[in-house]
Amino acid sequence: MRILIANDDGYLAPGLAALVKAMQGLGEIDVIAPEQNASGTSNALSLHRPLSLYQGINGYRYINGTPSDCVHVALTGVLPVLPDLVLSGINNGANMGDDTLYSGTVAAAMEGFLFGVPAIAFSQVEKGWAHLEAAAAVARSVVEKVVATALGRGPFLLNVNIPNRADALALPRVVTRLGRRHASEPVIRQQSPRGETIYWIGPAGDAREAGEGTDFHATASGRVSITPLQVDLTDHAHLARWSNVWAP
Ligand code: MN
Repeated sequence: MRILIANDDGYLAPGLAALVKAMQGLGEIDVIAPEQNASGTSNALSLHRPLSLYQGINGYRYINGTPSDCVHVALTGVLPVLPDLVLSGINNGANMGDDTLYSGTVAAAMEGFLFGVPAIAFSQVEKGWAHLEAAAAVARSVVEKVVATALGRGPFLLNVNIPNRADALALPRVVTRLGRRHASEPVIRQQSPRGETIYWIGPAGDAREAGEGTDFHATASGRVSITPLQVDLTDHAHLARWSNVWAP
């Protein structure tokens, strides 16, 4: 088995090292991660500048680009064959609900999925890497389960969020749907030292739909959340309504 591992926090992030270490023995592992923290870059591809592949002193290869760049370049120009699995993470902080649209962690996995490769994104719920080894053990266990049950049956995209707990490996795992968030908090306006008005993107809004069955609910109640994702953004429920608007 061949596994490609990427992330969005950058090739020096502790979460990447923990994920790579946890996958030892499962097969041949390639790591290609962004040079810098690229959290929040979603599915961006760098179309207007060249990308370079470097060998990091920590043994991992990195690219001066986005998470999607890393997986895209790996799959289309670096790896001799498509991997059997693309893994992303472990992210420094949750990727749940609407956050998944902005997530570089999810995007790196999604890039694999778009090329027909099964893919899994892993995130710790809280920032700060507390109990990272336990989260890595959960990732290993999830991958082993997937390899035993789902590989070879077509591509899939899973989004896994792991509570920062020492006993994470013992927590129940539950398949969830994405919750929803309220709109983000307003931007924060400041003056730069040169007198310019500058803006910081504000924090994410609170959970709006966090009921039973959602990723928010699962992690808040001490479970590992596993959400199967799809890419099709079509509003299927309203196709007919809009078709009527432009009916001949
Ligand atoms: Mn990140």
